[in-house]
Amino acid sequence: MGNCQGQCYQKSLSQTNSVDCGKLMILVKTWQKEAFSLFDYENAANVQEQKFTINSEGYLRGRNQIEWIENDSIIKDEVCKIKKKNENYFIVNPNFQNVDKMQVIQEKEEFHTLVNKTVSDNIGNKIWKVIHENGILLEEGDVIKLGRVKFTIRQIALDIKSQEQRSECESSLSNESEQIMCRICCSSQKSLKNPLLNPCKCCGSIKYIHLECLKTWLRMKLENRQSENCIVYLWKNLECELCKFNYPPKFKSDDAYYDLIELSKPNDYPYLMMEFTNKQGQQLECNKSSGIYILKFSNVLELKVGRSNETDIRVNDISVSRNHARFQVQDKKVYLFDNHSKFGTLHLIRSEKIQIQRGMEIQVGRSLISFQ
Ligand SMILES: [Zn+2]
Ligand SMILES: [Zn+2]
Repeated sequence: MGNCQGQCYQKSLSQTNSVDCGKLMILVKTWQKEAFSLFDYENAANVQEQKFTINSEGYLRGRNQIEWIENDSIIKDEVCKIKKKNENYFIVNPNFQNVDKMQVIQEKEEFHTLVNKTVSDNIGNKIWKVIHENGILLEEGDVIKLGRVKFTIRQIALDIKSQEQRSECESSLSNESEQIMCRICCSSQKSLKNPLLNPCKCCGSIKYIHLECLKTWLRMKLENRQSENCIVYLWKNLECELCKFNYPPKFKSDDAYYDLIELSKPNDYPYLMMEFTNKQGQQLECNKSSGIYILKFSNVLELKVGRSNETDIRVNDISVSRNHARFQVQDKKVYLFDNHSKFGTLHLIRSEKIQIQRGMEIQVGRSLISFQ
């Protein structure tokens, strides 16, 4: 709709009836019962269908019955807010956080993971964009959902150069004069790239471990299965073999933060690293609650993901179709395409607002909203 004038001009040439540029048609399908946040795109039973034609900004609200409201009063049960600017419509993201707020949340999350509590991520309704066969460009930090299985894209590493530059400025170290040594290799040498850490409750002569020694230990401990183009690490709890303390997913040592997931990075490029966290009693991969998938594109440019044995990336969950989606590298970028999956491939909207395009579909709560 960016070139609305142009589009309308073209349409009026081909169609005899005039097209009203200012109008937007919204088709809402709402599932009447909670179905574990799953949308069965093939089964239309128990779905309420509604159509709205709008001409100005406003809100969609409601639970089972959706309403369009144009006034600016306090809205209860808001599904989605739509703004209009210069004949273009935008979806306003209620979950958008500016950088300052984000930092506070991250700090909170870090604090909570350290004390072993989970933080509720339910700040309003999340808006998911439905990915179709035409695909979407993936960026680090993106959250995608295959059926009900959620992945966070932690890292997209396409060549070795950019990664080396990054690690240069990653960690900071204080100058401790205390005589300390690594409990694995017994060396007391340390450097910025390989500091001595204290990730658990051990003290005395076994208090410290080298970053590199911890990485090696993690790789041995975590490696679960490996196919030609995909490595999967899964774990429920990782504990210190001596003090039995559970290593938190993120820990602080000498004023620098370390991340167990980051520590299991592979050595060959290009790859994409995505993390999943098992929430709400999902029975995934024999009860392992966290894990990472490392997708290797060194041999092929396209990897299939699904529940079938023939896919490159296997995700064992009933909500994932046999051949659900595919990742593809094109011009040093990674794209995700859906493959007519039953419960859909979704991409979390993280920006402040997103311009509505005809044919676009989003999912909010139990509603699937299409714009035409
Ligand atoms: Zn060591
Ligand atoms: Zn320990």
